[in-house]
Amino acid sequence: MKKILLIGTGGTIASEETGEGLAPGITASGLLSRLGGLGPETRVDSRELLALDSTNIEPRHWLMIAGCIKENYESYDGFVVTHGTDTLAYTAAALSYLVMGSPKPIVLTGAQKPIGMDSTDSRENLRDALLCAASDMPGVSIVFDHKVILGTRAKKTRSKSFSAFESINYPELGVIRDGAVVRFIRQECGAEPVFSGALDTKVSLLKLIPGIRREVLDFLFERSDAVVIESFGVGGLPESGGFFESVRQWQERGRIAVLTTQVENEGSDLGVYHVGSRLKKELGVLEAWDMTTEAVIAKLMWILAKTKNAPEVEKLFYTPVAMDMFPR
Ligand code: ASP
Repeated sequence: MKKILLIGTGGTIASEETGEGLAPGITASGLLSRLGGLGPETRVDSRELLALDSTNIEPRHWLMIAGCIKENYESYDGFVVTHGTDTLAYTAAALSYLVMGSPKPIVLTGAQKPIGMDSTDSRENLRDALLCAASDMPGVSIVFDHKVILGTRAKKTRSKSFSAFESINYPELGVIRDGAVVRFIRQECGAEPVFSGALDTKVSLLKLIPGIRREVLDFLFERSDAVVIESFGVGGLPESGGFFESVRQWQERGRIAVLTTQVENEGSDLGVYHVGSRLKKELGVLEAWDMTTEAVIAKLMWILAKTKNAPEVEKLFYTPVAMDMFPR
């Protein structure tokens, strides 16, 4: 018999109408009781860790979820975390670094419609996630709309449809078909997971718009240990307006700059255009390549809690974890 721990954190799946919009009100055991029987091969215990709309989730909550998994790791065969969909991809990425190389499944799921509604994806997603957590699917993944997506590669790409998540620049790990997990890829894992218990939250994200001013970048660098710049296309910074100088000055003061792209698929390639190549060659800024922005943010928080030394940050940043980037 497989023993699964269900960890509730809130989200639409557990939400009810309050008169002022949906808010989490159903506990993890309440979710289970609305699911019906699960069969004799699986025993599910539940833990109500948080009751938050995932807009309210912060890095300290990622640490709480990782801590709950660590505390219970030996007692269970797999874990399911129910979570709001809005920041689910960030939490999945964060858990991929905080609980690295887990041989046991850590499955995140949620829903676009609350479990109490007649037409809902909650029951199917939860049932699929529990199936996946009881199967041989190591590491962190998201189960949603019958797909299994690697935790470091997920992105919410639809705000209303049941097919809310896509796997970015990496194939899906599997699908759930007729109540069975069809696995295409088995994540590599260790004999034991490596847990981390710290994050540096001084990481910021700037989305470039045409005509943006340097002061915005300076404002963020002043308050951050690392700034991720979501630039255009394969990557670059406007050549007038002092952006290059800004990055150079803040790097001299020990800040980390990472260039990524606003384009969802295929990633950055900073060396291609004049607007990007100098940043790479002369300033040695880091680039995200095929990583999602969610994974870049979580990885930087995880790395910067270990070291702020630029060459060490660079080495860790380019070391793939849970296939978050293809090796270069
Ligand atoms: N606002 C909700 C949340 O992220 C949306 C959802 O769960 O689908 O908690």
